[in-house]
Amino acid sequence: MPPNPVPSRTIKVAPLRCEFCDATTESEFLRHQLAMTHAQLRVTFLFCALFYLCFAATDLIWVGYSLKTCLLVGARIAVAAVVLTCLALLKRRPDSIPFTRVAANIVEVAGAAGFLLIAALRPTEFSLHAISMSIVVIVLYIYIPNRLIYAVTIAAAATAFFMLLAWQLGGMPTLELATMASLLALTNVFGYVAARRYQILWREEYSAQMVLKNLSVRDPLTGCYNRRHLHEQLLETEISRAQRYRLSLTVIMSDLDHFKAVNDTYGHYGGDAVLQRFAALLQSMTRDSIDSVVRYGGEEFLLILPETDLAGGELLAERLRQTLADTPVDHEGQQIHVTASFGVASVDFASSTHEAHDNMIAAADELLYAAKNSGRNRVCAQQLV
Ligand code: GH3
Ligand code: MG
Ligand code: MG
Repeated sequence: MPPNPVPSRTIKVAPLRCEFCDATTESEFLRHQLAMTHAQLRVTFLFCALFYLCFAATDLIWVGYSLKTCLLVGARIAVAAVVLTCLALLKRRPDSIPFTRVAANIVEVAGAAGFLLIAALRPTEFSLHAISMSIVVIVLYIYIPNRLIYAVTIAAAATAFFMLLAWQLGGMPTLELATMASLLALTNVFGYVAARRYQILWREEYSAQMVLKNLSVRDPLTGCYNRRHLHEQLLETEISRAQRYRLSLTVIMSDLDHFKAVNDTYGHYGGDAVLQRFAALLQSMTRDSIDSVVRYGGEEFLLILPETDLAGGELLAERLRQTLADTPVDHEGQQIHVTASFGVASVDFASSTHEAHDNMIAAADELLYAAKNSGRNRVCAQQLV
């Protein structure tokens, strides 16, 4: 069986915190979402600031000038100032994921604290404040993109403080207080459920994209990268990286010997089993997430080995050759003996003076055919300068 293109462990979402269980996948997802997170934060922050500023103006108009009004207006302007500062800082730090989290938390805490202060300064209107509190809770859960765990903590704490103020300052009958508490608790539950759905939906959408992307870059029979991915991205990325850091880069071209005879003797399925076994061997003897195994043609595989010099590449090719030759492939009870030939080409980007990398694959291919011509089941290697 070909290897699964995206292991299920990497796309599993933790049910309570609603984040990918795998930390690397989660941080890749957050990076993928960054533009959308920024756009949402910008709109919500702008709206919050406008909301607080408009209410500062209505305080002055309706309540008139007094020390209390000054405090009210001051609190609203302070919240608007915090929100606008975070908005300005967001624009200056467009690439930082931690900063989006910090900004979201600051605005959530400042907005909730400002609102509670305003409610405390106008203790006769708690029934009205409860409606605003519901809006604040919904904004905290849904409109400000944040970790679910932070949104729950801030919204639940703000609701608890609000109820404490209503109880201490509101002078409301117990039954009315209990009804208010139940309605706000319900708003929190609805907010949590909606936020949870969003978090899971975004991650499911991202997982589906990851699976599709992986399928498009891999060969279905062996699970190795396909040639399109090699030419569209892989080769360019590895050569640029090796050039930038002046590292060695080695490529190995390998080809099964007399593979046509395997097909003729054991049938096409026997041939497929050999291809899968050879691919699995190449994958298992190279470094996870560092080396790349590409199905270059029918029974031709290319290995890209970053930070590997000629000696290292030659050693690996020799180990692969030996292991394949020593381990027959089991197919429906039959033992299929196969060998392969290898061409190893290496460039040291610390000393290479000309564009040796331009023809690395062609050079490995020529070396492979030199190996074939000198009897097969062997390795030919060369340093390109
Ligand atoms: P050499 O040692 O010179 O490489 O000889 P060879 O027989 O391996 O090379 P040749 O190019 O003559 O034959 C390659 C064979 O690989 C022919 C083709 O049918 C077979 N092949 C290519 N792709 C697949 C595949 O996906 N499955 C199977 N079973 N066979 C394949
Ligand atoms: Mg062959
Ligand atoms: Mg071939």
